[in-house]
Amino acid sequence: MAGSKVLVLGGGFGGVQAAISARASLDASHEVTIVDRNRVPHLCGMNPLLIVGERDTDKTGRSLGRLANRGIKFVEANINSIDTTGQRVETSAGTLDYDYLVIALGAAYDWDAVP
Ligand SMILES: Cc1cc2nc3c(=O)[nH]c(=O)nc-3n(C[C@H](O)[C@H](O)[C@H](O)COP(=O)(O)OP(=O)(O)OC[C@H]3O[C@@H](n4cnc5c(N)ncnc54)[C@H](O)[C@@H]3O)c2cc1C
Repeated sequence: MAGSKVLVLGGGFGGVQAAISARASLDASHEVTIVDRNRVPHLCGMNPLLIVGERDTDKTGRSLGRLANRGIKFVEANINSIDTTGQRVETSAGTLDYDYLVIALGAAYDWDAVP
């Protein structure tokens, strides 16, 4: 479908890779957008360097805003709900509609599950 909208929910490892792959496969008439509540998600692979003091806490992420250089739009917002019938997503920054949706919101930790 020409001029379609690809919406990727979550700017972690999965979401960023999905957006980069979609962007590389589609011509400029298609729009690729990532939504994440954090502009600079923490990269957990940095944790070992953080623990041994070889990396500062403010240098353990990468800005999703930089994806604009690759033709990927970034929206900083919390995702509240997904309406697959109406093909739209409610976020703290408003309603986003889509033709194709990628859900890459990661895992939610249950801190109380482990004593
Ligand atoms: C301590 C630790 C160390 C790890 N080390 C490694 C390693 O060395 N090698 C390896 O391969 N894997 C490692 N992993 C696993 C790896 O981090 C995960 O497999 C990977 O991050 C999963 O990718 P994802 O895209 O599914 O989710 P995530 O990377 O968790 O991304 C999910 C994104 O969704 C966003 N999000 C979630 N809910 C909402 C919402 N409601 N609204 C807006 N945004 C939202 C979050 O902000 C986040 O940016 C490690 C994990 C941990 C916890």
